[in-house]
This record gives sequence, C-alpha cells and structure tokens, in this order.
Amino acid sequence: MPDLVIRNIGTIVTGDVAAPTAEGDTVVVREGIIASVGPAADADTEGISASIDAAGATVIPGLCDNHTHPVIGDYTPRQNQADWIESCMHGGVTTMISAGEPHTPGRPTDPAGVRALTILAHKSFDNLRPAGVKVHAGAVLLEPGLAEEDFREMAEAGVRLVAEIGISGVKDPEVAAEMARWAQARGMRVMVHTGGASIPGSGVIGADFVVAVRPDVAGHTNGGPTALPLADVVRILDETDARVEIVHNGNVKAAGEIAALVRTRGEVGRLVIGTDSPAGSGVQPLGILRTMSWAASLGGLDPALAVAAATGNVAALHGLNVGVLAPGREADVVVVDAPLGSQAPDALGALAIGDTLAVATTVIDGAPRFAKSRNTPPPVRPISVSG
Ligand SMILES: [Zn+2]
Repeated sequence: MPDLVIRNIGTIVTGDVAAPTAEGDTVVVREGIIASVGPAADADTEGISASIDAAGATVIPGLCDNHTHPVIGDYTPRQNQADWIESCMHGGVTTMISAGEPHTPGRPTDPAGVRALTILAHKSFDNLRPAGVKVHAGAVLLEPGLAEEDFREMAEAGVRLVAEIGISGVKDPEVAAEMARWAQARGMRVMVHTGGASIPGSGVIGADFVVAVRPDVAGHTNGGPTALPLADVVRILDETDARVEIVHNGNVKAAGEIAALVRTRGEVGRLVIGTDSPAGSGVQPLGILRTMSWAASLGGLDPALAVAAATGNVAALHGLNVGVLAPGREADVVVVDAPLGSQAPDALGALAIGDTLAVATTVIDGAPRFAKSRNTPPPVRPISVSG
C-alpha cells in the first residue's frame, strides 16, 4: 500500500455530516491509510515521494454509490456494456453498494439458486476490484421459500446485504418483514424499493410497505424512476428509522424536494445518495456527482453536506472504514474543482449552482488511479499528480 501527500488543498470536505469541512491544506497517507488531515506545518511527510499538488482545489472522500446493480466483473448485461465500473471511477466513485443482482441472465429464484448466486456475487467481488473500486455485492433478492437457515448460511459466507425488496418474488409485506428480521439479526442491511416500477417485475411501493417491513434504507425515494408522494417520504422519516435514498436514475424535482425536506427537519444524516446504475436509464459514470449537485442546487443543501450524503453517510450505514477524510480511514480521496467554464469559483460553489464537478484524480488506498478524468470536464486549476 502506497504513501502519498496531497498539498496546497484549498478546501477539505470531510464527508462527516457533523463536521463537513476541516481546516488545513494537506492530507498525508501512509500505507494506504490517512495519517493526517490539517495544515502543512503540522504534516509529517518525511520519506514520501508521491504527491499531488491540488493548486488550491478541493478534496472530498471517494464517492460511495449506495445503489448499484453489478452482476459479475466489470460488465453489465443490462446494457451490454463493459468497463462501466471503471467509468464510474473516473467520476470519483471508489465504493459501490449492490442493491441486488437482478440483471443476472437466467437468475435462479429457488432457495438453493438464490443462496448460490448471492454468495458467488459477494465472493467474486471480494476477490476482484475493477479499477480499484470496492464493490460490495451479493445482495440477496428475496424469493418465496427462503428460510431462516438460508440467511444463516449466507451470513456465514459473508453476505451483508438484502437487495431492494419489491423487485423480486416476495411482494407480501408480512413475508418480507419476517425475512428482513432474519437478515437484520445477522447484521445484514435491508433496502426496500420505493416508488414506481423501474423494470418489468418490479412494483409500486409506498410508505405503508416501508413502515411494515422496517428496512435500513428506503431506496430511491425520488423514484425508480417515478417518485413517491412527498407525504410518503415524510411518513417514512416519521414512522421508521430508515435512511432515505435519492438516486440519479429518478425524478430530479423530487430529489431536490427530498434534500430540502431532510435539511429543514435537521436530518441530513439520514440522506444517502446512489445512482441505480446500470438500469433502464443506462450507466451513469457521473451520476453521483450530478445527484450531489441536485441536492445542493435544487434542495438548498449545504454543498459539503451533499458530499457527506454520498460518502460518510453511506459508509456509516454499511459500517465501512471509507467515506470520511480522517486519520485511520482508508485513503480514498477525490481531487475536485469547478469545471472549466463554470460561473462558480470552486467545487462547492459549482455544486451550489448545479454544475457537475471536474475530477482531477481519484485516489484509492493512497494510489492515484489517473491524472486526467476521461469523463468529467477539465478542472479550472492546474492540479498535478507526480511520483
Ligand atoms: Zn428499485
């Protein structure tokens, strides 16, 4: 694992919803872990040759996409597209959470097949990081006939996720709630699909279903792709402990309204951002960057808090040691700036006016993955990667 120093940072966005920015201009990485965040005068950079000159630009944590549908490797059969995960990494994504692998061709729905597919997806992505991205996959799609013993076996194999409930065979809220309890008792995170039907086989789900099932996340509350009534989102916030998710592959206006809702309620810690990519709407390499800018520009969310909703909030939900720029965390960092031509002076200003950020480089475990994003506009500042 490499060492790295990032110098001349203009703004440090931490990803921590409780303290979304930090003082200082320097981040030091030792052996792939953040060693310090603060002023250059306090930074111990002895013996480190690899460096990034941020030239006054902004650093944020590596983005955590809370809603993806991987299948196997860096390929999606939904869009017949290769290297979609690498493409998202060029949009600043360093962690992906699976909301299920329903795009698997010939997906089995019997208990033995469900178990096997879930464990395979989990273990294959544990052994493979496409473009360095940490893909947490193997999210069990609930099907009739699954028993508590199946959840015990999957949990023992490392499975930690239940796919968004509603897109697979279990449609009855009582059956779903019983399976959700089996899963949560074993440390799994449970998501419920909300809103309209996203693809054939998924259904229309509102607050009644979410309140009955009590998931950890109400998925894509701004729609998959049609949104819940806002009153249903209020009920979910009032009557459950679930996080509410907004995604790129949803209703833009509703994304802004939901961001405004959690802001005015003082519950930004419950907002998580995803893309729901790949899906009918395609692969969305800049989907997280764009959804953050909707939350800030349309929802009036402090731009640094919009970043937290796509980083630290997701990491906290899943118990991952990423998503926050602080000592001891895995060194996943993105150097971002206002895109060339923006009317804003810097990255946070660009989010506030609805621009898509420029990514200068994405760092995973202390290693810069590129010196120029192939997908975002170029940054305003002359950021350089060396060593
Ligand atoms: Zn969905």
